[in-house]
Amino acid sequence: MNSDLRHEYLKAMGVQRWVARNSEAAVAEVELPLEQLSVEAQSDWQVLEQQVSTCSRCALNECRTQTVFGTGNRNADWMIIGEAPGADEDKLGEPFVGRAGMLLNEMLFAAGYQRADVFIANILKCRPPSNRDPSADEISSCQPYLQRQIELIEPKLILAVGRVAAHGLLQTTTQLGHLRGTVHSYGEQGIPLIVTYHPAYLLRSPLEKRKVWKDLQFAQAVFKQQLAG
Ligand code: URA
Repeated sequence: MNSDLRHEYLKAMGVQRWVARNSEAAVAEVELPLEQLSVEAQSDWQVLEQQVSTCSRCALNECRTQTVFGTGNRNADWMIIGEAPGADEDKLGEPFVGRAGMLLNEMLFAAGYQRADVFIANILKCRPPSNRDPSADEISSCQPYLQRQIELIEPKLILAVGRVAAHGLLQTTTQLGHLRGTVHSYGEQGIPLIVTYHPAYLLRSPLEKRKVWKDLQFAQAVFKQQLAG
């Protein structure tokens, strides 16, 4: 996307023009090559990818085109976690590639990141039929894979986008709106976790984009504080 269009996008989101942390050209749109990881980490990722791609822990394996492992920087500071693959993701094998994905890219850009800077994954690795909500059993069957990804990446911040991600990661049923604006803690590692709306919700309710912008500013402040501490 060219820079003028990007700024139009941000304007439409009600977001002030903001210069990215690094210059726009600074960050190449590439996944961290496997060979840049230690040998141990490479084999850990390979084992995990193999396990996910052949998984039959729940019935979703019967209707998927393919699993959607996750994508991005395997040494990322930020990990973005959504709900589950949709039709586009099931077809292409990559998370957040449809319209919601484009909006997620813009949200990340507003926070100073390119898509390839962060690691993007979902609570589920397979698409639920007709995009229905994931069941509790599906979430718990898939949970070890996401948990392992988090252990390997050791992100400094997790951004949970949407209700399913927030509830799945925080083991709560508290309304999403009430989970925003607080630094939660994920797992034994105590990784700071911030909750915001899902980009698919923003496509339906564009007026809420300002709240997401606020959440992203909050996430940046939490991240900076963590780096300083
Ligand atoms: N919605 C999600 O939560 N994840 C995707 O990968 C796509 C749409």
